[in-house]
Amino acid sequence: MVRNPEIDELIGALRAQGVHSVLAQFTDIVGAPKGKLVPLEHLQDLVHIGAGFSGPSIWGTGLPRMGVRSEYYGRILSHTLQVLPFWPGVARAICNGFAGGEPLETCSRQVLRRQVQRLRDRGLTLWVGVEPEFFLLREQGGQWQPADAQDQLDKPSYDLQSLYRQRGLLEELRVTLKALGFVLQQIDHEDANAQYEVNYKHDEALAAADRFQLFKLSVQAVAQKHGVRYCGMPKPFAHAPGSGLHLHVSLTDVTGRAVMANPEGLLGLSETGLRFANGLLTHADALTALSAPTVNSYKRLASTRSASGTTWAPVWKSIGYNNRTCTLRTVAGRLEWRVSDPSCNLYLALAGLIAAGLDGLDHGDWPLPQACDEDLYERHAQGLPMPPRLPRDLAQALDALEADAPLRVAVGTAVCQEFLSVKRQEWSQYAQHISSWEWQQYATGA
Ligand code: GLU
Ligand code: MG
Repeated sequence: MVRNPEIDELIGALRAQGVHSVLAQFTDIVGAPKGKLVPLEHLQDLVHIGAGFSGPSIWGTGLPRMGVRSEYYGRILSHTLQVLPFWPGVARAICNGFAGGEPLETCSRQVLRRQVQRLRDRGLTLWVGVEPEFFLLREQGGQWQPADAQDQLDKPSYDLQSLYRQRGLLEELRVTLKALGFVLQQIDHEDANAQYEVNYKHDEALAAADRFQLFKLSVQAVAQKHGVRYCGMPKPFAHAPGSGLHLHVSLTDVTGRAVMANPEGLLGLSETGLRFANGLLTHADALTALSAPTVNSYKRLASTRSASGTTWAPVWKSIGYNNRTCTLRTVAGRLEWRVSDPSCNLYLALAGLIAAGLDGLDHGDWPLPQACDEDLYERHAQGLPMPPRLPRDLAQALDALEADAPLRVAVGTAVCQEFLSVKRQEWSQYAQHISSWEWQQYATGA
């Protein structure tokens, strides 16, 4: 192998910063960051050949136990190397998955790369603002509780007393994220006890997914250091709002002009924006599987009440201007996809959104969406007819993905098949589990 002098230079620069190891990080099909530590001197190999992992031991690779394609190679992207403030001596780099010397069709980052390329072929770039909501919890004797026992307000949105009590952790998170190049916009207490939201500047789609993985690694590490746990479960507590991962999306053309916005247009959108939204609404059921992919996700996507009014999670397929009760909220010429939650693989969720949006752009003959200017929770409470519902549980969502052949083909048949197989297994385990609720309801018979 010919040594790349630029990589040798990089090794020198990282060594001078005290780095001894590279964390070669990829993402498995369920969205978890995975990887291994490799001594810095192997950086040339990591870039050209990749870090080797046993393919079948990773969720959803579809790789066999033996032969040339049994090894998952994570080829690192040297420009993504960043020294981790919370892991002394370690620099993290993002990997693209390869097997048998070819890009791996089940690697979710490769899947998103393909969709980004489809946009680029039309001179388009998708920008994504990711809004992570999460809980800070403590695990005691198998029970999960708010990390801060005093965080008990009935209406806890923007609670400054809890924010102040968590200032040590939040300050360390701020410093960590800043050192990692995040441009922070705000940190606040969300609508449930122990729930927080961190907002940072948007990125191009692939970079947004890479950054979200780095966000999770950072918040998990900082929380652990402060003796608490980051919880990205969509609905940890039945009585309180859950955590979403809203995605603000917009498109620019080759000149950098925002092509989805039109302040005078319906919903503040241009024809392109409306057609893209149409694609998302048309494929919404299948997209729900990719955006809200766990059993628990559907306990969030339900119309239940909280002290502040509602769960604020979408239930019906709809689009409205600055309407948080809809699946798609339009704001400032952007689309906010409100279905996704932190348990998703963001690469796959975004790949699905792009594939669906492009289908909308290609179907100029589809009627334009109707703007919803009502509070849908209110409408539902009054017993009025509602727009069609999103899937009610993971099984329905998976059926919808299976049934939506055009979307599956556009996203990638192999990755969708693996996703469906892993997630059907998850559903089947859940369906066979006997919960304490069932014991309470049925133990003594009818
Ligand atoms: N936590 C809500 C959700 O599950 C969203 C609240 C908000 O609009 O920020 O989607
Ligand atoms: Mg929020």
